[in-house]
Amino acid sequence: MDRIKKLFSQISDEEKNSILFEKIGKFSFKEFKDRVSSYSNSLINSFILSYSSGPFLELLLLLKEEAQGKDKKEQLEEEAFKVVNPSRKKPQLEERDGQKIFRENVENLLKEKSVLIAEAPPGIGKTLAYLLPMMENIESKRFLISTNTKSLQEQIFTKDIKLASYNAKVSFSTINIKGISNYFCFSKYYENMEKFHPLMKLATEGFIQISKTGDINSLKFMKGITYDDITCDSRYCQDLECPFSNICFFLRLKEKVLSSQIVVTNHYLTLINETLPKSILGDFEMIIFDEAHNLENVISDVYSYTIDFFEIFKILKYFIKRVKEDLKSVEESSLSYDCFNFFTEVYSFLNTLYENFEILYENILEKVTPDQKEKDVYDFKIFENVKTYILKIKQLLYSIRENGEKTLKILKDSKFKNLEIKHNLKYLVEESAKIYESFVVTTEANNSDYAFFYDLNTKNKNLILNAILVNTGEQFSNFLRKKEKTSILFTSGTLKSSNDFGFFKDRIGINISKRKYREEVFLSSFDYKNQMTIFCFKNIGDPNTEQFMENVITFLRKVEEKRKRTLVLTTSYQQIEYLKKNLSDPKFIFQVKEGNNEKILLQYKTRKDGILVGTSTFWEGIDLPGDLLEILVILKLPFLVPDDPVFLKKGENLKNKGFDPFYDYSLPYTILKLKQGMGRLIRRKDDKGEIYILDERIVTKKYGKKVISEFFVEPKILDFNEFTGVL
Ligand code: SF4
Repeated sequence: MDRIKKLFSQISDEEKNSILFEKIGKFSFKEFKDRVSSYSNSLINSFILSYSSGPFLELLLLLKEEAQGKDKKEQLEEEAFKVVNPSRKKPQLEERDGQKIFRENVENLLKEKSVLIAEAPPGIGKTLAYLLPMMENIESKRFLISTNTKSLQEQIFTKDIKLASYNAKVSFSTINIKGISNYFCFSKYYENMEKFHPLMKLATEGFIQISKTGDINSLKFMKGITYDDITCDSRYCQDLECPFSNICFFLRLKEKVLSSQIVVTNHYLTLINETLPKSILGDFEMIIFDEAHNLENVISDVYSYTIDFFEIFKILKYFIKRVKEDLKSVEESSLSYDCFNFFTEVYSFLNTLYENFEILYENILEKVTPDQKEKDVYDFKIFENVKTYILKIKQLLYSIRENGEKTLKILKDSKFKNLEIKHNLKYLVEESAKIYESFVVTTEANNSDYAFFYDLNTKNKNLILNAILVNTGEQFSNFLRKKEKTSILFTSGTLKSSNDFGFFKDRIGINISKRKYREEVFLSSFDYKNQMTIFCFKNIGDPNTEQFMENVITFLRKVEEKRKRTLVLTTSYQQIEYLKKNLSDPKFIFQVKEGNNEKILLQYKTRKDGILVGTSTFWEGIDLPGDLLEILVILKLPFLVPDDPVFLKKGENLKNKGFDPFYDYSLPYTILKLKQGMGRLIRRKDDKGEIYILDERIVTKKYGKKVISEFFVEPKILDFNEFTGVL
């Protein structure tokens, strides 16, 4: 302890403050130690990596050692794979009525091999309700749990599975796996390491030593690292042919997936797995989609196409350089003339391809820039005068792929030893195929399943052509049909909108799939009437006016006086910027675009009077029980942006089918999102708090009644001019 104290006295205030992420003045040794020990292992690791030498580094290493000595269990639970021995003792948890019925439903689902759509609000214990039946069948069956957020993924893997294990008769293995781009790639790192500052290299080497899973999450706190330079994607990965395959983090995990009985992963990997030639996850008896309300967005992400011009220029430059180098090696080898010919030809193809893409980019840019809009639906007419280039690009991509495949076969048959050349060629073939597919869809498809729009970066003039899938139901119904022998559970705290599951069912195409399904709604065991009060305002002003934002400032200044942890949910970064300009007290903590939310949350938790102002990601997936959240403020109803191209396309499709885009899409979406946001407040039986919804449309508009009818408690309507009495 003396050594730790001594080291502490040698650290500068600036360094001490950096670990708390903010300047809060001097703090005591005890306070410092408490804070560090409350951080997760991976966070401590990232601090260690940020300080390559000096007393701070030494101190952190000592504290880490101390923490590990104290809690070996926690360290184990941070790993991504484990064998769980069933708990001998049943935990002292009372099984609530709702949870019991939910569990029975899952037991039936397993027998029926059907589909269950279940809304289960917070407090019901839904994770245990689906884990307990799994445990009873763990001896012979495999299960997949798919979530939307990393936090839920971690929670299920580190806590809930162990908790439910008392119901298992045998030991079983479980794995927590994310998409390949979440893991450190040795091949990429060694390829790009010249770009790294020496300190970064040192830190990365440290990471390689410390990390057990290669999850780059703990490197995320380091400045100056481009994640593309150290992470992989499935097309680049050389798999077993990679020279680093014996030490590769991802391959090590992948190997264990197929032998794991419970696989915990995210929706993205679950869906992308279906597009791979060989499944990395395998088959399952039951798939659980938790946080299922997010599926629509993930389906859309997985099955959409983009042409990002700057990204294409970068890839083509990379291949031009590689092929030039490879050409030399092929020339010096004993390979056939055909092979040499291909490399010579492809080098010239790639250069021509680059030139054609450049011409195309400049031509399209001219047509989309006049009004300098950053995002807009494009008319396929913009391609009319550049058809020759489009054709040429397609031909070149096609030839590279076709001839590349033939050459790969020659290399394989001739037992060519240079693995790197083979890998580069394989990568080129796959990349050409992918660009070809995206190129055809974004420039030619023009069908109603997609929203076509461009994204223009007005600063650097990068242009991205997007074809975003809007007809998610059609696409996902294929998945449901393909898994006809698998039981599937869709669950979330909010799946119902406008009092039924119609909105959700359309998004996942359950009716088109013709699969047998049941719907269940479970009631929360929370006593909402006594645990929360909801206030709505009138006379606060139209939410799209400056006057409204001024009133919001007045309101938040009043909230500030209550000195309670508060979450303010906004619907845009512009609103955050406005509030930031007007509320300068350090207790206000603002979400930053592309910032680290984990860091912001930590900062908020360290202040008893913290007021966290966030948007998008903070509307769901964060768990702030007890006094971590006592007041929730919602600025505006979370409507979709009316001129958003994806929303416009969905609206158009609905109109064509005789539906109303507002009542049949926009409003149900808003209600779901709002319920998610409101769900942040009460997380435990003894939580209490207040919700303030500042958007007066909930009181003044006809649809407001529909929104209010979905609340757990009747709101109190306040006149903004008289609200101070309430606060
Ligand atoms: S096997 Fe794939 S992920 Fe692993 S180091 Fe090699 S290229 Fe990277």
